Amino acid sequence: MFAIDHAATALLVKRRYPKVPLTPILIAVQAMELAWVALNYLGVERTATESTVRSVADIHLVYMPYSHSVGTPILAAVVAWLIIEKGFHRPMLGRAVSIGILSHLILDLLTHAHDIVLWPGLASPRLGLGLYAAAPFAAFIVELLYGILCWRVYRGSRALLALIVLANLANLSFFSASIPGPEQYLAGRPLLLVTTIFVQIVVTLVLVGALARRKDPSSSPARSPLVATNVIS
Ligand SMILES: [Zn+2]
Repeated sequence: MFAIDHAATALLVKRRYPKVPLTPILIAVQAMELAWVALNYLGVERTATESTVRSVADIHLVYMPYSHSVGTPILAAVVAWLIIEKGFHRPMLGRAVSIGILSHLILDLLTHAHDIVLWPGLASPRLGLGLYAAAPFAAFIVELLYGILCWRVYRGSRALLALIVLANLANLSFFSASIPGPEQYLAGRPLLLVTTIFVQIVVTLVLVGALARRKDPSSSPARSPLVATNVIS
Protein backbone atom coordinates (compact mmCIF):
# COMPACT_ATOMS: atom_id res chain seq x y z
CA MET A 1 0.00 0.00 0.00
CA PHE A 2 1.20 3.48 -0.84
CA ALA A 3 2.33 5.98 1.79
CA ILE A 4 -0.77 8.19 1.84
CA ASP A 5 -3.09 5.30 2.63
CA HIS A 6 -0.88 3.89 5.37
CA ALA A 7 -0.86 7.42 6.83
CA ALA A 8 -4.66 7.60 6.49
CA THR A 9 -4.91 4.42 8.60
CA ALA A 10 -3.69 6.51 11.54
CA LEU A 11 -7.05 8.32 11.30
CA LEU A 12 -8.89 5.06 12.01
CA VAL A 13 -6.69 4.33 15.02
CA LYS A 14 -7.04 7.90 16.27
CA ARG A 15 -10.81 7.62 15.95
CA ARG A 16 -10.72 4.46 18.09
CA TYR A 17 -8.33 6.00 20.64
CA PRO A 18 -9.18 9.74 20.57
CA LYS A 19 -7.15 10.61 23.67
CA VAL A 20 -3.92 9.18 22.25
CA PRO A 21 -1.75 11.83 20.49
CA LEU A 22 -1.68 11.46 16.72
CA THR A 23 2.11 11.61 16.27
CA PRO A 24 2.99 8.19 17.78
CA ILE A 25 0.11 6.63 15.82
CA LEU A 26 1.41 8.14 12.58
CA ILE A 27 4.90 6.78 13.25
CA ALA A 28 3.50 3.35 14.19
CA VAL A 29 1.52 2.89 10.96
CA GLN A 30 4.70 3.49 8.96
CA ALA A 31 7.18 1.79 11.31
CA MET A 32 7.59 -1.19 8.95
CA GLU A 33 8.22 1.07 5.96
CA LEU A 34 10.69 3.25 7.88
CA ALA A 35 12.55 0.08 8.88
CA TRP A 36 12.52 -0.97 5.20
CA VAL A 37 14.02 2.38 4.15
CA ALA A 38 16.78 2.16 6.77
CA LEU A 39 17.59 -1.49 5.98
CA ASN A 40 17.72 -0.77 2.23
CA TYR A 41 20.14 2.11 2.81
CA LEU A 42 22.24 -0.18 5.01
CA GLY A 43 22.26 -2.88 2.32
CA VAL A 44 20.58 -5.45 4.59
CA GLU A 45 17.37 -5.56 2.53
CA ARG A 46 17.23 -5.27 -1.23
CA THR A 47 14.94 -3.88 -3.91
CA ALA A 48 15.25 -4.38 -7.68
CA THR A 49 13.58 -3.09 -10.81
CA GLU A 50 13.04 -4.30 -14.35
CA SER A 51 15.20 -2.61 -17.00
CA THR A 52 12.23 -0.35 -17.68
CA VAL A 53 9.73 0.62 -15.01
CA ARG A 54 6.23 1.34 -16.31
CA SER A 55 4.20 0.46 -13.21
CA VAL A 56 4.49 -0.89 -9.70
CA ALA A 57 4.55 -4.41 -11.21
CA ASP A 58 8.08 -3.66 -12.52
CA ILE A 59 9.39 -3.00 -9.02
CA HIS A 60 10.42 -6.03 -6.97
CA LEU A 61 10.82 -6.03 -3.22
CA VAL A 62 13.34 -8.84 -3.51
CA TYR A 63 14.54 -9.22 0.06
CA MET A 64 12.89 -7.61 3.09
CA PRO A 65 12.49 -10.37 5.71
CA TYR A 66 13.19 -8.11 8.68
CA SER A 67 10.95 -5.14 7.89
CA HIS A 68 8.22 -7.05 6.04
CA SER A 69 7.86 -10.60 7.31
CA VAL A 70 4.68 -11.63 9.11
CA GLY A 71 6.50 -12.37 12.36
CA THR A 72 8.68 -9.31 12.90
CA PRO A 73 5.90 -6.67 12.98
CA ILE A 74 3.82 -8.96 15.24
CA LEU A 75 6.84 -9.25 17.56
CA ALA A 76 7.43 -5.48 17.37
CA ALA A 77 3.75 -4.78 18.13
CA VAL A 78 3.78 -7.09 21.17
CA VAL A 79 7.06 -5.64 22.49
CA ALA A 80 5.82 -2.06 21.96
CA TRP A 81 2.54 -2.90 23.72
CA LEU A 82 4.32 -4.55 26.67
CA ILE A 83 6.77 -1.68 27.10
CA ILE A 84 4.21 1.12 26.79
CA GLU A 85 1.27 -0.49 28.60
CA LYS A 86 3.00 -2.59 31.23
CA GLY A 87 6.21 -0.55 31.58
CA PHE A 88 4.96 3.02 31.22
CA HIS A 89 1.33 2.37 32.26
CA ARG A 90 -0.11 4.03 29.16
CA PRO A 91 -2.57 1.32 28.04
CA MET A 92 -4.40 3.32 25.37
CA LEU A 93 -1.12 4.52 23.84
CA GLY A 94 0.28 0.96 23.92
CA ARG A 95 -2.75 -0.47 22.15
CA ALA A 96 -2.92 2.32 19.56
CA VAL A 97 0.78 1.92 18.71
CA SER A 98 0.63 -1.87 18.42
CA ILE A 99 -2.53 -1.74 16.28
CA GLY A 100 -0.84 0.89 14.11
CA ILE A 101 2.18 -1.36 13.56
CA LEU A 102 -0.03 -4.37 12.72
CA SER A 103 -2.21 -2.31 10.33
CA HIS A 104 0.77 -1.92 8.00
CA LEU A 105 1.29 -5.67 7.81
CA ILE A 106 -2.39 -6.35 7.08
CA LEU A 107 -2.63 -3.69 4.35
CA ASP A 108 0.60 -4.85 2.70
CA LEU A 109 -0.58 -8.47 2.73
CA LEU A 110 -3.72 -7.36 0.87
CA THR A 111 -1.90 -5.44 -1.86
CA HIS A 112 1.65 -6.74 -2.28
CA ALA A 113 3.00 -9.29 -4.72
CA HIS A 114 4.03 -12.59 -3.11
CA ASP A 115 6.96 -11.08 -1.24
CA ILE A 116 6.16 -11.30 2.48
CA VAL A 117 7.73 -14.31 4.24
CA LEU A 118 6.63 -15.65 7.62
CA TRP A 119 9.89 -15.01 9.42
CA PRO A 120 13.47 -13.99 8.51
CA GLY A 121 15.31 -17.05 7.19
CA LEU A 122 12.21 -18.78 5.84
CA ALA A 123 12.17 -18.61 2.04
CA SER A 124 8.60 -19.83 1.66
CA PRO A 125 5.69 -19.44 1.76
CA ARG A 126 5.73 -15.92 0.37
CA LEU A 127 2.49 -14.14 1.15
CA GLY A 128 0.63 -11.26 -0.47
CA LEU A 129 -2.60 -11.25 -2.45
CA GLY A 130 -0.72 -10.02 -5.50
CA LEU A 131 -3.07 -7.16 -6.33
CA TYR A 132 -0.25 -4.90 -7.57
CA ALA A 133 0.95 -7.52 -10.01
CA ALA A 134 -2.39 -9.00 -11.12
CA ALA A 135 -4.64 -5.94 -11.27
CA PRO A 136 -2.73 -2.72 -10.61
CA PHE A 137 -5.58 -0.41 -11.60
CA ALA A 138 -7.96 -2.26 -9.29
CA ALA A 139 -5.33 -1.78 -6.58
CA PHE A 140 -5.41 1.97 -7.28
CA ILE A 141 -9.20 2.09 -6.88
CA VAL A 142 -9.07 -0.03 -3.71
CA GLU A 143 -6.38 2.21 -2.18
CA LEU A 144 -8.22 5.42 -3.10
CA LEU A 145 -11.52 4.16 -1.67
CA TYR A 146 -9.75 2.91 1.45
CA GLY A 147 -8.13 6.33 2.01
CA ILE A 148 -11.51 8.04 1.62
CA LEU A 149 -13.06 5.53 4.04
CA CYS A 150 -10.42 6.40 6.65
CA TRP A 151 -11.23 10.10 6.19
CA ARG A 152 -14.97 9.41 6.44
CA VAL A 153 -14.68 7.38 9.63
CA TYR A 154 -12.47 10.07 11.15
CA ARG A 155 -14.84 12.83 10.00
CA GLY A 156 -11.90 14.88 8.81
CA SER A 157 -11.80 18.28 7.13
CA ARG A 158 -12.26 18.85 3.42
CA ALA A 159 -8.58 19.76 3.20
CA LEU A 160 -7.72 16.32 4.58
CA LEU A 161 -9.98 14.67 2.00
CA ALA A 162 -8.36 16.72 -0.77
CA LEU A 163 -4.91 15.60 0.42
CA ILE A 164 -5.90 11.92 0.43
CA VAL A 165 -7.48 12.09 -3.04
CA LEU A 166 -4.68 14.17 -4.60
CA ALA A 167 -1.90 12.06 -3.08
CA ASN A 168 -3.55 8.91 -4.42
CA LEU A 169 -3.96 10.50 -7.86
CA ALA A 170 -0.29 11.48 -7.79
CA ASN A 171 0.50 7.74 -7.72
CA LEU A 172 -1.80 6.92 -10.64
CA SER A 173 0.98 6.38 -13.19
CA PHE A 174 2.51 3.74 -10.88
CA PHE A 175 -0.66 1.67 -11.26
CA SER A 176 -0.95 1.69 -15.04
CA ALA A 177 1.75 0.73 -17.52
CA SER A 178 0.00 2.83 -20.17
CA ILE A 179 0.25 6.06 -18.18
CA PRO A 180 3.82 7.44 -18.31
CA GLY A 181 5.14 9.01 -15.14
CA PRO A 182 8.20 9.60 -12.98
CA GLU A 183 8.51 5.86 -12.24
CA GLN A 184 10.44 5.44 -15.52
CA TYR A 185 13.41 7.21 -13.91
CA LEU A 186 13.55 4.58 -11.17
CA ALA A 187 14.66 1.81 -13.57
CA GLY A 188 17.96 0.37 -12.33
CA ARG A 189 18.04 2.84 -9.44
CA PRO A 190 16.58 0.99 -6.46
CA LEU A 191 18.00 3.41 -3.89
CA LEU A 192 16.36 6.30 -5.74
CA LEU A 193 13.11 4.38 -5.34
CA VAL A 194 13.82 3.95 -1.61
CA THR A 195 14.51 7.67 -1.29
CA THR A 196 11.33 8.53 -3.22
CA ILE A 197 9.28 6.34 -0.88
CA PHE A 198 11.03 7.82 2.18
CA VAL A 199 10.11 11.33 1.01
CA GLN A 200 6.52 10.19 0.40
CA ILE A 201 6.37 8.69 3.91
CA VAL A 202 7.60 11.87 5.59
CA VAL A 203 5.49 14.26 3.50
CA THR A 204 2.26 12.25 3.89
CA LEU A 205 2.74 11.72 7.64
CA VAL A 206 3.41 15.43 8.21
CA LEU A 207 0.49 16.59 6.04
CA VAL A 208 -2.01 14.04 7.38
CA GLY A 209 -0.91 14.96 10.91
CA ALA A 210 -1.27 18.70 10.24
CA LEU A 211 -4.61 18.48 8.43
CA ALA A 212 -6.09 15.95 10.87
CA ARG A 213 -5.63 18.51 13.63
CA ARG A 214 -7.54 21.15 11.68
CA LYS A 215 -11.25 21.47 12.08
CA ASP A 216 -13.39 21.97 9.02
CA PRO A 217 -15.33 25.21 9.57
CA SER A 218 -18.40 23.63 7.98
CA SER A 219 -18.49 20.67 10.38
CA SER A 220 -20.76 20.90 13.36
CA PRO A 221 -19.12 20.28 16.76
CA ALA A 222 -22.57 19.47 18.16
CA ARG A 223 -22.99 16.66 15.64
CA SER A 224 -19.43 15.48 15.94
CA PRO A 225 -17.92 16.03 19.38
CA LEU A 226 -14.87 13.94 18.48
CA VAL A 227 -13.75 16.54 15.96
CA ALA A 228 -13.32 19.04 18.75
CA THR A 229 -11.35 16.46 20.73
CA ASN A 230 -9.06 15.93 17.76
CA VAL A 231 -8.36 19.63 17.40
CA ILE A 232 -6.92 19.97 20.88
CA SER A 233 -5.12 16.63 21.07
ZN1 LIG B 1 5.13 -1.81 3.63
